[in-house]
Amino acid sequence: MRTIAVSIVTPDGPVYDSDVNMVIAVTATGELGVLPGHIPTVAPLQIGAVRLKKDNATEIAAVSGGFLEIRPEKVTILAQSAELAEDINVARAQEAAKRAEALLQARRDDTDFRRAELALQRATNRIRVYEGKV
Ligand code: ATP
Repeated sequence: MRTIAVSIVTPDGPVYDSDVNMVIAVTATGELGVLPGHIPTVAPLQIGAVRLKKDNATEIAAVSGGFLEIRPEKVTILAQSAELAEDINVARAQEAAKRAEALLQARRDDTDFRRAELALQRATNRIRVYEGKV
């Protein structure tokens, strides 16, 4: 089966580097599946799961927004933050979700509200990826 190189990089450093058969990410316009030979493009990413398929295995990463760049020989995901499922601290994500929910209940102002919504999305995404519910 043909493969394409995939890197996931964040400001904290590289998170993933391997050859895969297919990568599926959540872009602003929906899910995008990338196979070797995909046309070059750049797409903004949503907070969501990135699925990395290789042979019969699928690795999953939680990604908190950023960009996906497809070049002929390589896919690069530049993410604000990203963790592979096995590196997710689920207790931390659950705490983050609780904090965000409390802020949403408090409804202080629009900026706080939007920040809490995004924090809740990041936490929920991490919990779903950890639990494999993607
Ligand atoms: P928290 O409130 O728990 O810090 P956050 O969503 O604000 O969550 P980010 O700003 O997205 O956190 O990430 C900061 C750093 O912490 C990044 O390196 C990210 O990979 C890491 N990180 C955040 N939450 C987790 C988690 N639950 N498990 C593992 N790493 C995490």
